[in-house]
Amino acid sequence: MKKTSIYYYLLIALFFAPNCFSQLNKRNLVNAEKYQLQKFYKINKILYPGDSSINITYYGLNLNITYSPNYLKGIATINAKSTENGLTNFFLDLQDTMHVDSVLLNSSQIYFKHSLAKLEIALPRSYNIGEQFSVVIYYQGIPGSSGFGSFEFSSHNNAPAIWSLSEPYGASDWFPCKDTPADKADSSDVWVTCSNSLTAASNGTLQAVVDNGDGTHTFKWKNIYPIAQYLISIAISNYTVYTTYYHYAPSDSMPIVFYIYPEDYNIAKPYLDKVANMIAIFSKFYGPYPFLKEKYGEAQFGWGGGMEHQTMTSLGGFDEDLEAHELAHQWYGDKITCADWQDIWLNEGFASFSEAVYFGAVSGLNSYNLMMNSFMDNAKNAVGSIYVQNISNVNSIFDYDRSYAKGAVVLHMLKGIMGDSLFYQLMKTYASDPKVAYGAATTANFEADAEKVYGSSLSYFFNEWIYGENYPHYSVSWNYNFISNNIYSVNLNLSQTTNTNPAFFTMPIQIQVKTSAGDTLVTIFNNRQNQLISFNVKGTPQYINFDPNNLILKDISIIDSIDLTKPQTFTLYQNYPNPFNPSTTINYSIPVNSKGFIQVKLIVYDELGNIVARLVDKAEPAGTYSVKFPPGNKHLASGVYYYQIIAGDNIQTKNMVLLK
Ligand SMILES: [Zn+2]
Repeated sequence: MKKTSIYYYLLIALFFAPNCFSQLNKRNLVNAEKYQLQKFYKINKILYPGDSSINITYYGLNLNITYSPNYLKGIATINAKSTENGLTNFFLDLQDTMHVDSVLLNSSQIYFKHSLAKLEIALPRSYNIGEQFSVVIYYQGIPGSSGFGSFEFSSHNNAPAIWSLSEPYGASDWFPCKDTPADKADSSDVWVTCSNSLTAASNGTLQAVVDNGDGTHTFKWKNIYPIAQYLISIAISNYTVYTTYYHYAPSDSMPIVFYIYPEDYNIAKPYLDKVANMIAIFSKFYGPYPFLKEKYGEAQFGWGGGMEHQTMTSLGGFDEDLEAHELAHQWYGDKITCADWQDIWLNEGFASFSEAVYFGAVSGLNSYNLMMNSFMDNAKNAVGSIYVQNISNVNSIFDYDRSYAKGAVVLHMLKGIMGDSLFYQLMKTYASDPKVAYGAATTANFEADAEKVYGSSLSYFFNEWIYGENYPHYSVSWNYNFISNNIYSVNLNLSQTTNTNPAFFTMPIQIQVKTSAGDTLVTIFNNRQNQLISFNVKGTPQYINFDPNNLILKDISIIDSIDLTKPQTFTLYQNYPNPFNPSTTINYSIPVNSKGFIQVKLIVYDELGNIVARLVDKAEPAGTYSVKFPPGNKHLASGVYYYQIIAGDNIQTKNMVLLK
């Protein structure tokens, strides 16, 4: 699901994407105790089970819908299995705005009670674990509208537009169900009877359109795949229907069917024609389109945004990234559904990330990065953990900064840790994991797949980024030492400010060092709040680039003044090689000086104290220098030589041996 307003914001953000380092720390202070509480909460999460004594296997909705007056008459056939022995009654969720006329089992009316949004049903005998029964519920009314719409009688261009958007809690506004995404039905049917002037779109395959001879016709939609209650949908209007095909094999194709308001068809068509390629792109990265035996569809509706109804996305407008977002949900959201709303990032973070994947595939890495920078800017505003703390508030579940933008950035960071190849292997592994494919998942399922593919624990990553809050704020200072023969040690002092939750983030971090010999890229593992890290590079270091590929959501300050990039101490190094023949190199470091320059003399003496060579005699700025000895082709005898440096008040002397 995605709101249009967000889409426009994203577009604007794309064009004006500020540098991701530009936002300095504005986070509120949070403490470590809270993080501990969240870990506790993670284990003791509140998962709305519906009636846990039943397992839904089928929804069949036979709906008679009129626009004048706005009304719905429904016959819901619901198959379920008992999950306990001796089951004699159970309940379904159905809001009180709908009136239940009767409930049948095996063609006989059975007892029910409908109040406080629960439809309690008494079974005529007891059922044991795994035993299946089928109830038929006759109900009617004007569906309520909660959340983002649930069920709306609206209009466009003076024509009716009747549509549903059940996520997260709206399915029970218009049909009896077990209102939790954790319990998917194995299949579903939606039959819609409406005026002959209207067309009804829904999930799965359109089996038949039956003319009832009374000014109405019935659209019979059949879905053969497992489906969550909130992904069952209807969209009814005076649609223009347009069909293209996705060719997934040389001789096989799947229809893509669009239901568009006639007045918008010409504007929409260029966007519709991109969808087949979108399916091809996501199939490449995530595995085959999950509902190849049916279709993919888009139906225009009256909500300002999009909703990923299974095989029939509902769209309020036609834009490339909105369409990419909703299409990606067919893998992450529909094929694999978050088992509870706390884990909504498994839907929305993945679909948002997929927008960047799509643009990266069609326009190159720069487009991917632009979109990710935009997500990062939003992610920095996220309040609370990605694992949603307050699922009683719909806006808290669908918080853009947290569930969408930061969720997308988390996948980007995981990709940074695993590398592209393993990461996309993970995306396919997860999408086809029999534990969750065509079922429901929690973060723990995804983490388990990630660790299996990566071959190592990633619990630090998920604990910090999913169950923790905020993001790291790094402060980096650095310098370097000469080691030997054009090898330098780079010394980083890396600290994280404490106003994060957790107190610090454990992360691998790429450091790029630009040297006189080229670039060196190293990955360090930062697992302490304050850490000193040293590594060797070839060539004189000139500057460092912290996280050069922008793989981490962060703020950073690099103390990179000229002072710290230059030597801090006066040093005369041992010559190399030593002993030598015919020549050797002498290195020395001149420290930072308030005048900027120091008069430097480097003189070589023989054993008797005679001056053999004046290698340096000039004013030099701070830096590390190399000189060759002997200069030119000067002929010298074997023996010990002394080299002495005088720089300001500093004098150092070392000896070296010429062996012929
Ligand atoms: Zn979405």
